[in-house]
Amino acid sequence: MPECPRCHQAVDVKAIACPYCRTPLKAYGHPGMTLYHATGDEPLCVACTYDEDDTCTLPKRPHARDCTLYRDRNQPAVPMVTQGYTRDFQIRTWIKRNLVWLLLLGLILFSLILTLLR
Ligand code: SF4
Ligand SMILES: [Zn+2]
Repeated sequence: MPECPRCHQAVDVKAIACPYCRTPLKAYGHPGMTLYHATGDEPLCVACTYDEDDTCTLPKRPHARDCTLYRDRNQPAVPMVTQGYTRDFQIRTWIKRNLVWLLLLGLILFSLILTLLR
């Protein structure tokens, strides 16, 4: 099982984020994604952003000859997508963590509305 590059806990190979410290991880690709192939003698990882920033947990790193998640480190990043994903992930995580309080607040508001309508 690979380990998180930040907190070094064991994480599932398909995890897209570390369950312990929330570091985004690169997991196995999804159907329909482009499969990149190394063209020269060097593996893809040598020129991959995810090798450079140490977020790749794929077992074939650093010797991957083909990979669906390869991203050329010389290409500009796509911050809008990353930020959107991160914000969405954070909101869902916050809701999950505070679900009990949100339900309690909803119940209180519902009771208040019922009381006011009498
Ligand atoms: S090419 Fe694939 S295996 Fe290599 S670092 Fe990039 S994402 Fe990881
Ligand atoms: Zn971690």
